[in-house]
Amino acid sequence: MIFSKEEKTSTLKINEIFFSIQGESSLAGWPTVFIRTTGCNMRCSYCDTKYSYYDGTKMSLQYIIKKVASYKNVRHVCITGGEPMAQPNSLLLMKELCDLEYVVSLETNGFYDTAAVDPRVIKVIDIKTPGSGESDSFNFKNLGTIKPQDQIKFVICSLEDYEWSKDLTHKYDLAKKCNVFFSPAFETMSNKTLAEKILEDSVPVRLQLQLHKYIWNPQDRGV
Ligand code: SF4
Repeated sequence: MIFSKEEKTSTLKINEIFFSIQGESSLAGWPTVFIRTTGCNMRCSYCDTKYSYYDGTKMSLQYIIKKVASYKNVRHVCITGGEPMAQPNSLLLMKELCDLEYVVSLETNGFYDTAAVDPRVIKVIDIKTPGSGESDSFNFKNLGTIKPQDQIKFVICSLEDYEWSKDLTHKYDLAKKCNVFFSPAFETMSNKTLAEKILEDSVPVRLQLQLHKYIWNPQDRGV
């Protein structure tokens, strides 16, 4: 493996790197290496990764890529957080991973403009609902650069959130731009209620359950 000069000297603060089943998005089910960056500019009401706000270790991109390569026969890598886009070197890491022919996905909270993300990366962009407490945060520039294989995700905490998300989906014709997911907040929204509402209103979105929380203990880390 040949590392560029930039790759050798650039670092990222990383909370954890682990191997698990992807539980979300159109890539759900794939064995995936997760790179969780440290730090987030938001404080969502339902956040299940509060431990990533501050804890972490500075790692060189070279080290991170070697660590990813140590998991054999893995093609999927997910950059998550925290908020990966809060650290500009995430862009370089994603490019290098794409060059190495990994299928790379980015989970981002929607605040940052993702125009500079390598086009080979599958972007999974949140639009934060009112129930998250962060609903004014979405950067609408992201709708200008989103691609058909990218994904927009709404985490639905209540029926009010559902109506809000449905209205936005229609207003911006999101389903014509990319995949759109409605995901029930694990502790506050019933899967069945959300499924029935989507069917009742025939909303052009996909229901997303967080697979990993049904396989393992929902409080477990590193899954
Ligand atoms: S954006 Fe993600 S990591 Fe940040 S507070 Fe919200 S749920 Fe937690």
